[in-house]
Amino acid sequence: MALQPFKRLLVKLSGELLSGENGVFSASYLNELSEAVLRLRNEGKQIAFVVGGGNIWRGRDADLLGINGTDADYIGMLSTAVNGLMLKSCFESRGLKAELVSSFLIEGTAYRRHPSEIRNLLENQVTVIFVGGTGMPHLTTDTLAAIRAVEISADLLVKLTKVDGVYDKDPIKYVDACKYDVLTFDEAVQKSLGVMDLAAFALLRDKNIPVAVIKGTDPMELIAFLHDPSKGTLVVP
Ligand code: UDP
Repeated sequence: MALQPFKRLLVKLSGELLSGENGVFSASYLNELSEAVLRLRNEGKQIAFVVGGGNIWRGRDADLLGINGTDADYIGMLSTAVNGLMLKSCFESRGLKAELVSSFLIEGTAYRRHPSEIRNLLENQVTVIFVGGTGMPHLTTDTLAAIRAVEISADLLVKLTKVDGVYDKDPIKYVDACKYDVLTFDEAVQKSLGVMDLAAFALLRDKNIPVAVIKGTDPMELIAFLHDPSKGTLVVP
């Protein structure tokens, strides 16, 4: 069963997925991701990314350095912009049109945009990359992903993770863990499955935007999921 209705996708990409063994960025991952985006664009999909910054810095590591937690979150938000700029350059090198939209102004590089402008960009085959988190400390890129998904009227929010879906228990620790193919938002909350942070999850549930959890270590899984949803987990209202 192909998921044809999902035309406009908001993809939450954690920074961790971008990193390679030898540093902050994996060239092979960025190449594969760019190829996947190109294919999706050729299939007529409209794609926006919300990118994290965990490959560079995470605010919760503040204690390791003894720095102020709020200051650490600002470093984290800025690190998402570095990742976004890298994605934009990689996508453009494949001939894709891409635009960086930030929660705070980075003169010459990233600007704030009204949601209607962003929807126009998507309709014109521009891949939009949201960076800067929410612009506020003590929040997460999951929250930003949910807000942006609503703003752009996404058909689906895709969360790329290290595992291939939502399980009843941690599949890395337990060999008998079972994957859910489809779940409702309420089931995910009642069973404390930790799909996303709760504020983000509640917003998506209220706005009827389904969430797909897909293995992000291979970007082609995104395309595979849209043709065969059993490749991941679909969380529906
Ligand atoms: N961050 C923040 N506010 C936001 C989003 C992110 O302060 O709205 C900071 C926070 O310190 C976080 C870091 O930016 O650790 C990077 O984001 P995140 O950890 O979500 O990135 P990911 O783990 O998805 O790569």
